[in-house]
Amino acid sequence: MNTFKPAPSCTDTNEYGSLRADDALNQILERVEPVSGTEQIPLQRAGGRVLAQSIRSDFNVPAHTNSAVDGYALRGRDLDSAGPGTEFRIIGTALAGEPFPGTVGPSECVRIMTGAVLAQGADTVLMQEHVEIGGGVIRTQATHRSGDNVRLAGEDIRQGETILDPGRLCTPADIGLIASLGRGEVRVKRPVRVGLLSTGTEIRSIGTPLEEGTLYDSNRHTLQAALQKLPVEINDYGIVADDRTILDQTFANAERDNDITISTGGVSVGDADHTRACIEARGQVVFSKVAIKPGRPLTFASLSSGFFFGLPGNPVAVMVTYYQFVLPALKKLAGIEPMPKGLTLRAQTLNRFRKKPGRTEYQRAILSREENGSWSVASTGRQGSGILRSMSLANAFVILAHDESTVEPGADVTVQPFETLL
Ligand code: AMP
Ligand code: MG
Repeated sequence: MNTFKPAPSCTDTNEYGSLRADDALNQILERVEPVSGTEQIPLQRAGGRVLAQSIRSDFNVPAHTNSAVDGYALRGRDLDSAGPGTEFRIIGTALAGEPFPGTVGPSECVRIMTGAVLAQGADTVLMQEHVEIGGGVIRTQATHRSGDNVRLAGEDIRQGETILDPGRLCTPADIGLIASLGRGEVRVKRPVRVGLLSTGTEIRSIGTPLEEGTLYDSNRHTLQAALQKLPVEINDYGIVADDRTILDQTFANAERDNDITISTGGVSVGDADHTRACIEARGQVVFSKVAIKPGRPLTFASLSSGFFFGLPGNPVAVMVTYYQFVLPALKKLAGIEPMPKGLTLRAQTLNRFRKKPGRTEYQRAILSREENGSWSVASTGRQGSGILRSMSLANAFVILAHDESTVEPGADVTVQPFETLL
C-alpha cells in the first residue's frame, strides 16, 4: 500500500522526518571512537595535542623549600614568643641558585632572595619591607607569623603524583608543568586525518575568473581555518563539480586516506545534489535531516572505514553545523577526555527572535557586557544562511531550543560565545 508522505515545507510545525539536534549529536557520539595510534613528539610541538600517556612526577616541584619574597629567613618559633621590636642578627646571604651553607640559630637570620633555598633551621621569611634594618640586625615591626612567605617543597607537584591523564588536550600550563619535570618529549595521540572538499559546479577556486553564475569557494577555507585549532592533519580534495562519477571517485579516495571526510554542498534534494546517493553507496547514512536552522540537510554517515559529514552548501549553515555537530565528533575522534562540555550563558536579549517550535535555531548575535556587569545580546540582523557576514559580525550564537517559540525583547536567552568553541 502506498502511504502518502507530504513534502516537507518550511511552514511545518514539526520538521517532517528530521531528527532533533540533541538526538543527532547523540547518534554521532555513539558511533565515533577515538583514533588508536600514538606518536612520541618533542614538547615544543605538544601544545594543543592530546596526551596518550599519564604524566607522573619523579620528584617534588619545587624540589626545595624556598623563599617567596626578598627578605630575611629565620626560625618562626623565635617570633611566637616575641612581639614587634625583636632583633635578629644577620649571619649571611642566600641567593637563588646559591644557598646559605650554614644553619640559622636562635635570634639569627639570613638575608634571602626570592627563589633561594631556605637555610637550615629557618622556616619563615619576613619581607624586607616589613622590617627595620641597621647595624647588621633586623628589627621586626608588625605581627609576623611563623611559616610566612615560604614555598614548600612539593607544593606545586608532589613526588609520585600523577598530574595529567591520557586524553588531556595540552594547554600552555600543561606544557609548562611537563617542562618543570625535565621531560623533553611526550607520547600523544596521532592527529585525526580529515578530508575536505567543496562540491558544486558553480564553485570556483581563488585565482580563477568568475564567469556568470559562479562564486568563489569560501567553505573550504572557513573549515580549514576552524580546523587549525584541533590536532588534525588535513587532506584537501579541492572543489568537485556536481558529477556523480567524479564525486564517487573523490569520496573513495577520501575514505581511504581519512578518519573523517567533510564535504559541503550537494546534500539537499535538488537535481544536482548527488552527495547523498554517493554516500549511500559507500556506507550507512545515519541521518540526513536534522530539525535545526540553519543546516537542516546535514548528513552523517558511517563508512566501512571512517565517517562522513555532508554539510549544506550555504556558508552560515556550514559554520553552524561544523561547530554544533562536526566539532564534537572531531574532539571524540582526537581522543580528548573528558569530552569538553560547551560553555553557554544566559543573557537578556535586546531584540525579538522570531522562532517556531519544532527545531533548534542558531542565530548569529553580538554578546555585550552592560555597565552594571550583566550580559545582553542582540541579533546581527538578517539571518539568511548565505549571509556569511552575519557570522563575521557576530561573536556568539543565540541558541533557541527545540520547543521554544518567539522570544520577546527583555527575555533571557541561551548564548554560546564563539570564543568558547575550539
Ligand atoms: P547547495 O547546498 O549545494 O545547494 O548549496 C547552497 C548554496 O551554497 C549555493 O547556491 C552556493 O551559493 C553556496 N555554496 C555552496 N558551496 C559553496 C562554497 N564552497 N563556498 C561558498 N558558497 C557555497
Ligand atoms: Mg550545490
